[in-house]
Amino acid sequence: MMKRSGVAAVLAGAVLVLGQESWAGRNRGTPPTGPGGTCQVVAAATALTEQEAADLLHLRQEEKLARDTYQALYAVWGLRPFDSIAASEQRHVDAVLALLATYGIADPLPDAAAGTFSDPEIQGLFEALVTVGGQSIVEALRVGAMVEDLDIADLDAAAAVSENAALQTVYTNLVRGSENHMRSFAAQLARNGQTYTPQFISQARFDAIIGSTVPSGRRAVRQRP
Ligand code: ZN
Ligand code: ZN
Repeated sequence: MMKRSGVAAVLAGAVLVLGQESWAGRNRGTPPTGPGGTCQVVAAATALTEQEAADLLHLRQEEKLARDTYQALYAVWGLRPFDSIAASEQRHVDAVLALLATYGIADPLPDAAAGTFSDPEIQGLFEALVTVGGQSIVEALRVGAMVEDLDIADLDAAAAVSENAALQTVYTNLVRGSENHMRSFAAQLARNGQTYTPQFISQARFDAIIGSTVPSGRRAVRQRP
């Protein structure tokens, strides 16, 4: 039975915020433009579909959510993985910003300070995650695993509906980074006698991530994020 620790309760609350599904999962309706949903959002030769543009805008906030959450938890606990993974998240933010610029889509957070988001759901999630992660190191690590869980789910969903090569390249790199981060957090949890149960990706997907390249679960701590 899952222990209903503080983190479990608040993470359950976070899931409630998200309507028990990742953002991507909730936003896969029939495209308003008809089959294919190929409505051009920019008058360029290389237009994105509405779904691709929406996914990029969401990922811009979600990568910032990861960065800001880890920075905040590093400030509380001084735990090295949070610092190094936050730096990796900054590179993820930059990769998404570069795509937005390429397709002429305005950054929704041009001057946003750390911990500030234009999406109210992400804002609420950030505050919940930092509160929970401030309770103990184990809960902070669980928060890290959950952020990666959510990120991978949304990246998988975004990749599944895009045939754009530039987007696919970035999604592939971001997923790879998120999988490394997940392995780091899971390994740290394991050292504390804890496990993480995925809430957004499937258990099979999670097991494949944890099982690949890090059979013992201990070496992940030393992996570069
Ligand atoms: Zn990321
Ligand atoms: Zn990450």
